[in-house]
Amino acid sequence: MNSICIYCHEQTKMSREHHLPECMGKFRDYSFLYEKVCEKCNGKFSKLEEQFCRCGPEALFRIFLNIQGRPYHKKPSPFYRGSAGGKRIEIKAKHPDMMSEIYWELKPNSLTSMPARQIIIQKSDGEIVPFIIHDNINSAEDIETELLQAGIKDFHIIEFWCKEDEKELFNSIFSKFNYNHTFNKITPYKDKDDILHEATLVVTDRYFRAIAKIAFHYFLTYFPQFTGHEANFNIIKNYIMEGVKGESYVKEVRGTFIEDLIFGGTTPTYNHFFAVEKDYCNIIVKLQFFVGPRISPQLYYEVFIGKNPEVIDYPQRIGHQFEYFDEPDAEDYEGRIVSIRPINKKLLPRIE
Ligand SMILES: [Zn+2]
Repeated sequence: MNSICIYCHEQTKMSREHHLPECMGKFRDYSFLYEKVCEKCNGKFSKLEEQFCRCGPEALFRIFLNIQGRPYHKKPSPFYRGSAGGKRIEIKAKHPDMMSEIYWELKPNSLTSMPARQIIIQKSDGEIVPFIIHDNINSAEDIETELLQAGIKDFHIIEFWCKEDEKELFNSIFSKFNYNHTFNKITPYKDKDDILHEATLVVTDRYFRAIAKIAFHYFLTYFPQFTGHEANFNIIKNYIMEGVKGESYVKEVRGTFIEDLIFGGTTPTYNHFFAVEKDYCNIIVKLQFFVGPRISPQLYYEVFIGKNPEVIDYPQRIGHQFEYFDEPDAEDYEGRIVSIRPINKKLLPRIE
């Protein structure tokens, strides 16, 4: 017999739900959430997860750590294309050999960056502007159209960057614009690891709803005494499914909730830390992504799941560490899950 979906309340075909999106990699001892979410409702999470995986800070870490994870590895790079309503990741910084700012992208599996595929144009008023060359730019007309949309009519190209095998194509395209530099005259297409960058990440509420979904489903996975049908969870479920204007159940908190890391410590490997804190009043899930040797924890997410529907006062705290291996193991697992002892002994703040 089919179970009843906690979202649409239909008795239909159920799914195997990943509380942590698959794009974050495959972990040993990972527990799926079974018999709670139907296939149809699960399908609705894909837009949320896509934005989480491709447009937020986690997307940068996925590139940095070269996490393959399905299902987005075949999609265009997030530095060139936005996803599910979120914008493409924009890293803009001054080029050391140029007076102007250009776009950069992260080189996979490293903390180095390189100039993104772009043209640098000079407008008739002298202003120098970089323009990303998207995958769908294949002709001089495409470039003209793109620049016209940005209100730029008179310009000349002063520099461009592209991949080695695209040189010929772009040289021929650019010949129309009196581009007369030798290819990449200023600086060849090479890594620069000594440049400080600031990335601009533009997400919509889908990103925060993805965080809420991860938190709620993580909680249901490890607290089987709750069915997910409890009325106290209607608010978080509505938020995940529909979003509520002007309200978020996801709070960003500075610092960390991992005791060992509070005073600036780091960990030898990269990890996500998840914890559920349940007291007689509230259920709160804390999530911190990508804490590791070269990055000390900056902020974590606190998700209010709901008032605790239990009638017996039974406080519980559980936590898990999703630890990445340096290299995927023989069975292609990219990490493992370790249960961690209850953390952060201080009392939960009351949410009224
Ligand atoms: Zn459903």
